[in-house]
Parts: sequence; C-alpha cells; structure tokens
Amino acid sequence: MSTHAGLHGLAASAPALAAWLEANAETLDTDATLCGDVVPQLAAAGLLRIGVPAELGGDGGTIGDAIDSVADVAEHSFAAAFVLWGQRTFIEYLLQSPNRGLRERLLPALLSGELAGATGLSNAMKYLSAIEPLQIRAANVPDTHGALGKPAWRVTGGLPWITNLRKQGFVAAAAADHDAGGPPSIFAIAHDAPGVTRSDDLDLIGLRGTNTAALQMADTPLTDDDRITDNAPAWLVRVRPAFLGLQCGMSVGLARRSLAGTNESGPGARAAVADEATALTEQLATLRTRLKAGVAQGEFVETPARLFELRIALAGVVHNAATLEVQTGGGRGYLRGLSGVARRQREAAFVPIVTPSLVQLKNQLAAQRAQQLRTGTVS
Ligand SMILES: Cc1cc2nc3c(=O)[nH]c(=O)nc-3n(C[C@H](O)[C@H](O)[C@H](O)COP(=O)(O)OP(=O)(O)OC[C@H]3O[C@@H](n4cnc5c(N)ncnc54)[C@H](O)[C@@H]3O)c2cc1C
Repeated sequence: MSTHAGLHGLAASAPALAAWLEANAETLDTDATLCGDVVPQLAAAGLLRIGVPAELGGDGGTIGDAIDSVADVAEHSFAAAFVLWGQRTFIEYLLQSPNRGLRERLLPALLSGELAGATGLSNAMKYLSAIEPLQIRAANVPDTHGALGKPAWRVTGGLPWITNLRKQGFVAAAAADHDAGGPPSIFAIAHDAPGVTRSDDLDLIGLRGTNTAALQMADTPLTDDDRITDNAPAWLVRVRPAFLGLQCGMSVGLARRSLAGTNESGPGARAAVADEATALTEQLATLRTRLKAGVAQGEFVETPARLFELRIALAGVVHNAATLEVQTGGGRGYLRGLSGVARRQREAAFVPIVTPSLVQLKNQLAAQRAQQLRTGTVS
C-alpha cells in the first residue's frame, strides 16, 4: 500500500472513502440513515475488486490484500468493515464455486456495488461444529427436474441474522439440508425470488447502518443454476480460511485504531501504558503476518486449529487495545461526540460473538486436544 505525506492505510490509498467513513462512522454505528450508501462507497473506492483475478473483472492481487483492505476500513468504521466483509466474502464464494454460470451472472453487479452480497453461513458454520442443525430445507421438485434437465428445489426456512441485506437489492448465501438426503447445498438466494421475506432491521445496540435483518424463505423455487456448491461441508472447509481471514481483518483494523488512539493521549497517560501498548502493537503485527501467510499458503485448510488460535488471539488484542484506549482517554472518552472511544467499545464487543464465536472455537480446540490425547498424537 502506498504511503505519502505521512498518510497511510485508507487515507493514502482511498482518501475520499477515508474522509467519508471518518465523518460518518458514528452515524453508521448508531442509525440506518446511510445504510444504502456503504456498498456504493466501498465500490467507488475500488475495494470490492481487490484480490479478484483481472480476467474476472477484479484488480488482481491476493486474498491477503483483501484482508488488509478490510483492516484499513475497520480503522475508520467497523460497521463499514463488516459490510465489506459480507460483500467480499460473498464474492469469494463465487470465486471458489464450481458454478461458472452463477459466477458470470452475479459477479459484475457485485463488483460494481450495484448488488449487495450477504453471507448467511453462521448457521452452516455452527452445523459444521455440531452446534445446531441447518435451518433451511430443500425439497426436490421432480417435474422441472425432467423438463430442464436440471435439479430444482423448493426451499423453506429462515436465518435470524444476516448483514448487508441492502434494501435496494441483495443476494444471500445460505446452506440447506436436502429432504432427499445427501450432503447439504449452499444456494445464492435473490432478494426478489418468490417467497423471500426480509424483516425490518434488527434493533441492534450498534452496527445499525449494516442492513442486518432476518431472512425467511417459504417454498422459494431454486435450481442448480443458483447452487454455489452441492457439498457444503467439504466446500466450507476450503473456503473457511478466506471467510475467517477477512473477518480477522476487522479485528486487525479495530485494534490498530485503538492503539493509535492510545498513542495520541497525553504524555503522562501514554508513558503509564507504554510497555503494554508496545507489546500489543508487536503482537498485532505478528498475528497479522501469520494470518496472511497461513491464508496465502493454504495452511489453514489442513490445520484450521491454527487459524482458530489466531482468531482468539486477535480478539484478545482487540479487547486489550480498546481497554488501553479507554484508560488513556479519560473522561473525554465518556462524553458524546468527542471521540470514537465509546463506539470502539461497542465495536469490540462484537468481535467475540461473530461466528465462529470465541466460545465455539475454544470448545473445538479443547475437543481436538482431548482427541489428540486419546490417540496419542499430541505434539
Ligand atoms: C450485528 C450482527 C450481525 C450478524 N451478521 C451475521 C451475518 O451476516 N451472517 C450470519 O450468518 N450471521 C450473522 N450474525 C450471527 C453471528 O455471527 C452469530 O452466529 C450469532 O450472534 C450467534 O448466534 P446466537 O446468538 O444464536 O448464539 P447461541 O446459539 O445462542 O449461542 C450463544 C453462544 O454460545 C456458542 N455456542 C452455542 N452452542 C455451543 C456449543 N455446543 N459449543 C460451543 N459454543 C456454543 C455460540 O457460538 C454463541 O457464541 C450476526 C450477529 C450480529 C449480532
């Protein structure tokens, strides 16, 4: 990323977007007035094309560059970074989907920001960890199957939380269990498909400009043309590093901003926490490097535990950095409109709960350790 005149991150690479986010971060967190503008703003700054191959309409680069772009946005607005995560992750689903027709149909509008991409795969991730069953069912439709030569289904069920359900138009990824048996599929469900209902925005304590709502499907007709994968568990294991890597980008950016806020405090306060701030800054840099290297090398497909450990460690850095910013900011941070300190507290509170949640990952790591002890494969 280029730096000039002392600027770095988004302020250097996309100054108009950085200024817009800086001016509107509070609004994006506390109300929905700007919720329709986020995806177009991200698109105008070129962020949706990062890490997408040039032959598919992207700017090239790597998934690591996309992770950095999420971090850059999260420094200014966590709500906008979460929207970017949803959009860019959906784009990644299409890049990693065997369904070329679906990719060709949806990718241009997703890259231009005309269409919002929403990822409703928390349910599927929890299903992969045996925490909950899939909440959507797909029933075969035998007649169309024969006529079109393509499998077709009627899909029914709901997802309680999905972000980036932009009212102007969206497509949502959701996993469905087949009544006929076999592995679950993941479908791309269009906002205007028959039987699709978006709820009003959920009444959140923050991130209110993110178009987060519930989605219901009732007998929604889908065909093989809408299917991202016909084997959700196997495909999710391959896509999870990008899904989680992009999500970890949000933690990197938020922690970085809290540490910058800490460093901007008065000299006495700064001196009191200098050692802690330095240690956190170094830890953050190390975690980011390991995250990007592991995602780039495909390491986390085979050994997801390493990625889970990084996610947990990054959440710890976010928490500690946000706490340092509160300590050094003093009473100013408790006054409305004077700083982003209180907002970053709310933003930090989201990090442990977004799927895969910290408790979920801690349980999975503990189960894996117990298994290794039983089989004598502990290293
Ligand atoms: C603002 C916001 C936006 C969101 N956007 C999206 C989105 O875009 N897409 C999406 O798919 N989801 C989204 N979610 C959902 C989110 O990712 C989490 O899945 C959700 O908040 C956790 O589900 P729950 O509250 O129903 O957890 P519960 O099922 O009530 O569980 C509570 C906690 O315990 C954990 N847990 C439950 N059972 C176990 C177990 N057996 N072992 C270990 N841990 C367990 C859960 O992971 C969770 O952390 C969003 C949530 C919020 C708050």
